[in-house]
Amino acid sequence: MANYDVIVIGAGPGGYVCAIRCAQLGLKTAVVEGRETLGGTCLNVGCIPSKALLHASHQLHEAEHNFAKMGLKGKSPSVDWKQMLAYKDEVIEGNTKGIEFLFKKNKIDWLKGWGSIPEAGKVKVGDDTHEAKNIIIASGSEPASLPGVEVDEKVVVTSTGALELGKIPKKMVVIGAGVIGLELGSVYQRLGAEVTVIEYLDVITPGMDGEVQKTLQRILKKQGLNFVMGAAVQKTEATKTKAKVTYKLRKDDSEHVIDADTVLVATGRRPYTKGLGLDELGIETTKGGQIKVGKDWQTSVKGIYAIGDAIEGPMLAHKAEDEGMAAAEQVAGKHGHVNYGVIPGVIYTWPEVANVGETEESLKDQGRAYKTGKFMFMGNGRAKANFAADGFVKILADKETDRILGAHIIGPAAGELIHELCVAMEFGASAEDLALTCHAHPTYSEAVREAALACGDGPIHS
Ligand code: FAD
Repeated sequence: MANYDVIVIGAGPGGYVCAIRCAQLGLKTAVVEGRETLGGTCLNVGCIPSKALLHASHQLHEAEHNFAKMGLKGKSPSVDWKQMLAYKDEVIEGNTKGIEFLFKKNKIDWLKGWGSIPEAGKVKVGDDTHEAKNIIIASGSEPASLPGVEVDEKVVVTSTGALELGKIPKKMVVIGAGVIGLELGSVYQRLGAEVTVIEYLDVITPGMDGEVQKTLQRILKKQGLNFVMGAAVQKTEATKTKAKVTYKLRKDDSEHVIDADTVLVATGRRPYTKGLGLDELGIETTKGGQIKVGKDWQTSVKGIYAIGDAIEGPMLAHKAEDEGMAAAEQVAGKHGHVNYGVIPGVIYTWPEVANVGETEESLKDQGRAYKTGKFMFMGNGRAKANFAADGFVKILADKETDRILGAHIIGPAAGELIHELCVAMEFGASAEDLALTCHAHPTYSEAVREAALACGDGPIHS
């Protein structure tokens, strides 16, 4: 038992970043984590392992589809699945051990075990009760399923099971065309599986720019992904090695059955707050189970804060990290702040998709006058050289002031390019500011400048 200025519950990107900032600000800090390793969902079963598999499978795709075109002839690599999983596990280990190192460096105690809050100012881990002036809940989220769909993590899996399948399935059904479903669906499609994505809505990646949705779906279809849109999954029936998925098409209520070796349930995530004792403490939550917080991330109980996937907002690692830093600063008496209007979102398919700020749809809903500057990667020399000319950059700017309101990119390195637009938006830049900035040639970034030029007198290369 010990006394701390801050105890953070959960060592995901929200919790571990918060703890490091608390320690840097001179607060005596501990983190409670029930998992065997630090890093939370993101490092263990989320962002990092999925990107490792996306990277490996993309290399295979390049070898199969583009190497010969560049004069690189010979046999395409074959897949050693065990080795690919070992590579992924090594990447996870390197990252989670890195957080352990940072904890030691910043003198943060790791209280191993599952924590609960018996009362404000106290955190119980196993038989020990620790005292803390401030408690920060960063307990994250867990996969959500559907009624009639029983997950066994072998045949019917969530993203967690999909990151460690025993073998590459011949046939895979993905329920849900959101970010996680499309990323992991892409991995297995590139590795040779016949992948069918079943989506309830008529569009993929709900909430994204409509033009990007259509373009991404077209490109993924061309790559070989099958889509069943407007379909409500009724149930799954699984044996030890196979499953049947029954769905109804919403347009005519007709019922269909599809077979699969693996069914990936990617229908979203819900906050994970089990065992913390929220009800007993009187901590208010939303209908969806998210912990309610004020502008300083404090819950309805003084001295208890919450951040990351456990509260409202996009379930993204960098959103959790930003809240972690800001909440730490609030606890230290500073003015932590998160600009929720400038949180980028990225889908790591090929091509990548990235967005920030308003969409055309949201601006229309607000009745706000805007202009659009769009540039196709087809006009970008670097993209053409690299067989990456599918897609575009679209910038939305205020019609009167030219201030950038949002940006949507589908194309090579979109997840990197978007940050130029995030910085511009943070600085309140106009599209003309970007258009007047010299961009190195030949880079993908030139497409961003051309889209900015398209908001004014017009791009050069189209
Ligand atoms: P988490 O990372 O969920 O961490 C919470 C931690 O708290 C967990 O380790 C848990 O064990 C621990 N915990 C919970 N309760 C207790 C307790 N009572 N006592 C002790 N410990 C407790 N986001 C991105 O931004 N980019 C991506 O590319 C991306 N890819 C993803 C891919 C997949 C397959 C998945 C599943 C998610 C992905 N995400 C991605 C989302 C991202 O992982 C989450 O938004 C992020 O991890 C949330 O961070 P967090 O700190 O709030 O919670």
